Amino acid sequence: MPEPTTATTAPCHVPSEIDAVIVGAGFAGMYMLHRLRGLGMSAIVLEAGTGVGGTWYWNRYPGARCDTESMQYSYSFSPELQQQWSWSERYAGQPEILRYANHVADRFGLRRDIRLETRVTAAVWDDGKRRWQVTTDRGDTVSARYCVMATGCLSNARMPDFPGRESFRGEVYHTGHWPHEGVDLAGKRVGVIGTGSSAIQAIPVIAETAAHVTVFQRTPNYSIPARNGPMTPDYEQDWKTQYDARRAMARQTRNGILANFNDKSALEDSPEARQRQYEARWVTGGTTFMASYNDLITSKASNDTAAEFVRNQIRSIVKDAKTAELLAPKDYPIGTKRICADTNYFEVYNRDNVSLVDIRNAPIERLTEKGLVTGGKEYEFDAVVFATGFDAMTGTLLKIDIRGRDGQSLRTKWEAGPRTYLGLMTAGFPNLFMITGPGSPSVLSNMLVSIEQHVDWLADCLGHAQSRQCNLVEPTQQAEDDWVAHVNEVAHKTLYPSAASWYMGANVPGKPRVFMPYIGGVGRYRQHCDDVAAKGYEGFRVEGRVGERVG
Ligand SMILES: Cc1cc2nc3c(=O)[nH]c(=O)nc-3n(C[C@H](O)[C@H](O)[C@H](O)COP(=O)(O)OP(=O)(O)OC[C@H]3O[C@@H](n4cnc5c(N)ncnc54)[C@H](O)[C@@H]3O)c2cc1C
Repeated sequence: MPEPTTATTAPCHVPSEIDAVIVGAGFAGMYMLHRLRGLGMSAIVLEAGTGVGGTWYWNRYPGARCDTESMQYSYSFSPELQQQWSWSERYAGQPEILRYANHVADRFGLRRDIRLETRVTAAVWDDGKRRWQVTTDRGDTVSARYCVMATGCLSNARMPDFPGRESFRGEVYHTGHWPHEGVDLAGKRVGVIGTGSSAIQAIPVIAETAAHVTVFQRTPNYSIPARNGPMTPDYEQDWKTQYDARRAMARQTRNGILANFNDKSALEDSPEARQRQYEARWVTGGTTFMASYNDLITSKASNDTAAEFVRNQIRSIVKDAKTAELLAPKDYPIGTKRICADTNYFEVYNRDNVSLVDIRNAPIERLTEKGLVTGGKEYEFDAVVFATGFDAMTGTLLKIDIRGRDGQSLRTKWEAGPRTYLGLMTAGFPNLFMITGPGSPSVLSNMLVSIEQHVDWLADCLGHAQSRQCNLVEPTQQAEDDWVAHVNEVAHKTLYPSAASWYMGANVPGKPRVFMPYIGGVGRYRQHCDDVAAKGYEGFRVEGRVGERVG
């Protein structure tokens, strides 16, 4: 099937006044549009890219695929869609997920309200009118009652600022901005900077044809074999006949994934039983390895047993002992940085055309005309691939000049780290919503589950406001302070803050170290949001005319 990546319709017109502007046409923005239409609202999606799909539109690097099973990493809101769509593999690759996103855009007639190649540059609150003035890089100004930021948690690709970056004469790529026409790295000497999940997916594929791949590693990552393979008709049917019940169960789990969760401590098992448990998970494959026991993210002693198992697997796969030790993470608990799923990642280091360079103690000094210098040695390449991740969760939002009440800028408000109520709103910025914002489970979960939960909650909230002729929704400062305290308290009961991860903002120099997502669990979080709604949107002011509390 050809891959539709651009709109097949004429560019949609941006009206000067509208009920809602949605920023971003990934899975969050598309579903939000669908739900707002259902409320009879006028809405438009503004998207910087030339196509829909968000993450799956931008990340086209070799080997890009999801590491949540596709039967679960898909929308659940339409029974017909989930029954009629068929995934070809257990974990779909990027092109297939992008086709799915385009299918959804067509199936639900979304394109007529999506304006592509339009980047939102500013959003300014007008307190008198109770509307947002949204400005784009095309010079449009839209006045909107509501502004929904569906800008994505991992959509601001981070390019490290190495000295001499401009001097390199070869090809330069970032995994998160991969050229749409594809890249031919066959027969080339390639340098890959970074060993996070994108690199772990890309390196084995690049190594198949490149002359040589040199991987520059600062921090090794724990990775579990994905055991990807073709979708079998039986497996698909099994899911499809029980979809409603399984989706309902997944929504109540810790991270929105049915993972055969083992509800006991790792320390309750004997060393032999633990070994059998980990081996079975290793054979099944995938990131649900972390569901082997119920305390892997809370007990260091339990976590150590899982971490050591994975290190031993790495040692048994990688033939060169020195390389194996470099690849085996030792200074942070397993799962506290995003755990990866791979296909032949550790095996790739047994190839003659792949080498690993440790840059932990000898950081990259500079790029040169021919390559880069680290540890006083120059490495030469035809192409350099930056697999350096994202300014996660807040980076994309803060690129937009967002100004709330009294001209307060979001950048200033969040200088010491993001502050939200439920990850949905921030005080002082009325009618501005975030889908999977900081302070919600977001990146710690199956994002499709979290996206649908946020969009559904928000649509209900706006329906509530609409039915009471209200035009303003805003969290109270107290509700926000209490939620931020709760998010921190829960995070610090786990091992997560002990790792210098992008969850903590640690991959971006100067970014405040705050644990950004909510670790309390998808099920618990959903219940909390539902309770808030049931109590008349507790912690929010939902108002009609100025000063009048309605609903
Ligand atoms: C390589 C990779 C693999 C992943 N694998 C998984 C996985 O296996 N499971 C999982 O649950 N999640 C995974 N994720 C997370 C993934 O981001 C989410 O699952 C999901 O796709 C996010 O959808 P979204 O709509 O919220 O955001 P995005 O898909 O990021 O879409 C946001 C959109 O907003 C647009 N935008 C941003 N700023 C502006 C602006 N100022 N003006 C206009 N447009 C703007 C962007 O161009 C983008 O298209 C992965 C992410 C990456 C990068």
